[in-house]
Amino acid sequence: MDPTELGSFYSALCCVRCSGRGGGAAAPAAPVVPADPTDPDSPWACLDCGAPYPPGREAEVLGRLEEAMAPPPAQQQQQQEEEEEVSARCERLLHTFSGLVHPNHRLMIDLQSRLAEAYGSGEEGVGPRMEEMTRPMLQRKVQVCHQVRRDRKCFTW
Ligand SMILES: [Zn+2]
Repeated sequence: MDPTELGSFYSALCCVRCSGRGGGAAAPAAPVVPADPTDPDSPWACLDCGAPYPPGREAEVLGRLEEAMAPPPAQQQQQQEEEEEVSARCERLLHTFSGLVHPNHRLMIDLQSRLAEAYGSGEEGVGPRMEEMTRPMLQRKVQVCHQVRRDRKCFTW
């Protein structure tokens, strides 16, 4: 099987060694993929620089991301004085994991798609209404929509 999953990088992580080198945050992420995606024990390595990824690290990184994406337990939610809006939470997680997980990873696409829906939703605890959105927020919504567009349609406005 093609380790790039036909160039989708749906399961790819991000090489911390060579991603963003020379171009800052805007430089394309170097994908880290398993040599054989059908083999769960296959070693992972960077497609660009060939650096091997520590065994088991991909499961740990993705486990942390999945845990962070899960809704907090109701009890914990009550304890928080001010609940973080979905849009703010998605932005925070995308920022935190952007250097670790490839932007095309299914979880990152999921986060971007949630973010695109949250911006302009106007629902309490989710995101601002369209007319409350600042210009950078609007540009961000358009940006994430473009990124998830090939995955699913999110232009609902
Ligand atoms: Zn690399």
